[in-house]
Amino acid sequence: MTLLDVQNLSVAFNTADGVVKAVRNASFSVDAGQTLGVVGESGSGKSVTVQSLLGLARGAQVSGQAMFNGADLITMNSADLRQIRGAEIGLVFQDPLTSLHPHYRVGKQIAEMILAHQDVPKRVALNRATELLGQVGIPHPKLRVNDYPHQFSGGMRQRVVIAMAIALEPALLIADEPTTALDVTVQAQILELIKKLQAELNMAVILITHDLGVVADIADSVMVMYAGRPVEKADRDTIYYRSHHPYTGGLLESIPVRGQQHDLRPIPGSPPSLINLPSGCSFHPRCRFVMDRCRTELPPLMQVDAGVDAHQSACWLPASGSWWEERQAMILAESEGSRR
Ligand code: SF4
Repeated sequence: MTLLDVQNLSVAFNTADGVVKAVRNASFSVDAGQTLGVVGESGSGKSVTVQSLLGLARGAQVSGQAMFNGADLITMNSADLRQIRGAEIGLVFQDPLTSLHPHYRVGKQIAEMILAHQDVPKRVALNRATELLGQVGIPHPKLRVNDYPHQFSGGMRQRVVIAMAIALEPALLIADEPTTALDVTVQAQILELIKKLQAELNMAVILITHDLGVVADIADSVMVMYAGRPVEKADRDTIYYRSHHPYTGGLLESIPVRGQQHDLRPIPGSPPSLINLPSGCSFHPRCRFVMDRCRTELPPLMQVDAGVDAHQSACWLPASGSWWEERQAMILAESEGSRR
């Protein structure tokens, strides 16, 4: 069952330098209990996409439709949106310190989140806060509930934020780069925790990250964004093993992928200005497979593989099987050339 259905979402900001087209015609959906990974470099529009749905993109001009449990988040008034934020949609951001107030005990902060949405006695909310700390793996929750944020390590603080985000058992958890500020071991623990809570609460999750490796074990489907547009969408295995868009290929080449041997190589160049986007395909100045038409014609999202309904790519390259082999041969030749 579809929980969130976003159609033609566009987000723009007026600035002194011109209009920033942060998101252009993004459409995607998330089913109840499923995880969508949204992946792209910094500036690809992935965070603004979810912020705009929740009324958190200040000063943005937002258009399109975002149906959540039968109501359109884009046209919803701010009081109703506030009720949905926290209660039906939980949020976890990169830096737990932005979500926690340094002057208040963590138990009080979690309890206040509960009291803002539920008419229960304070004592009940505080007991629930203690239970939640235990649920997210904080040792000795009855003691730690009285601690302040600075008394927790970075990973433990992120667990506290997750406890706050799931306090009201939301149908959807949005986690925006939840592990970026953490070391690799803690990162894996936090992802494992999100996976466990998702199963326990049957939550849908939108996991936003710049690192395709982060969604490898957790996402059911993946949407890759570039310059404010979705450029490839598919189930996780298709993205990892049969991706089509050269940008997705570039992201995969820049991370180690389990079961695959390849040299790590960054994507050359940097993402374009969202005020002056390149003509045609926005990726063309960085694409090693660029063709003439790429410089003038913007490729729409097109179905790639007749056998995989939901595999779409915004690229003019053919979808035939030989294309993948040609690309692999080109990558191999290039890496051999760079070794000589
Ligand atoms: Fe590269 Fe052209 Fe595909 Fe854009 S449309 S990704 S420039 S091949």
